[in-house]
Amino acid sequence: MNSELLIQAAKLIRKARYAVAFTGAGISVASGIPPFRGENGLWNTTDPIFLDIEFFNRKPLQSWLKIKEIFYDKLRNVEPNIAHEVLAKMEERSFLESVITQNIDHLHQKAGNHKVFELHGTYKHLVCTKCMSEYDMSFADLNYLPPTCLVCRGILKPDIVFFNEPIPAYAERHSFEEAAKADVMLIIGTHRTLALYTYRYRYLSGDDRLRSNDRNWRVVVFVKEETKTLVVRFKYQVSRLKRQVGKKYSTLNIILGSFTF
Ligand SMILES: [Zn+2]
Repeated sequence: MNSELLIQAAKLIRKARYAVAFTGAGISVASGIPPFRGENGLWNTTDPIFLDIEFFNRKPLQSWLKIKEIFYDKLRNVEPNIAHEVLAKMEERSFLESVITQNIDHLHQKAGNHKVFELHGTYKHLVCTKCMSEYDMSFADLNYLPPTCLVCRGILKPDIVFFNEPIPAYAERHSFEEAAKADVMLIIGTHRTLALYTYRYRYLSGDDRLRSNDRNWRVVVFVKEETKTLVVRFKYQVSRLKRQVGKKYSTLNIILGSFTF
């Protein structure tokens, strides 16, 4: 691990006016949750069709059987790891404003973060496919599948974003707003293309006001076993970011505990 870069990253975070973390599956790998892609990725052993909304609507029981196995039987018992805990501690100590996450595992909240925007929803909630009533998962008895709505008997769906479903408007809007306010963005445990998605937040949203802080925006990317600190003038150096991040850093297990704040 390059301690020079870590110190540099810690300084950036310390000086940040508004730091935001953007996290992906890689941050939860150390908690025992496999990533979706890559060598030990879930999609190597599981057909993603079970998480396709059209499939779910046609065959909810089949879809639920798999979803229960890959998410609900496992996620109830997983615990946050040190990376989640440090992000929570950073929020507590005002070094971090919010977390934007692609994860549905609820581990940021379990670790203690309060301002978390879940781009792909959360397994913790279920939503009725007919009347849109919402339930906490503790309500559902998953021994009887598919679970149904108390109000209208409609089928309940996990409140996670399936393939061919849009990102929830609430999470998307707030993520844009957070990215717009941020002068430091920590990109943790996510694939490079998704890191570039963060770029989209800022520049493709069509909001010119978001561009005013161009020269002050910093990106810190944490990757597995190595930390690259990229101090990027984003507007001018997107190609550099693509080159740097794009090599092969797909996941993160970084121990943020190395920082001294
Ligand atoms: Zn209902």
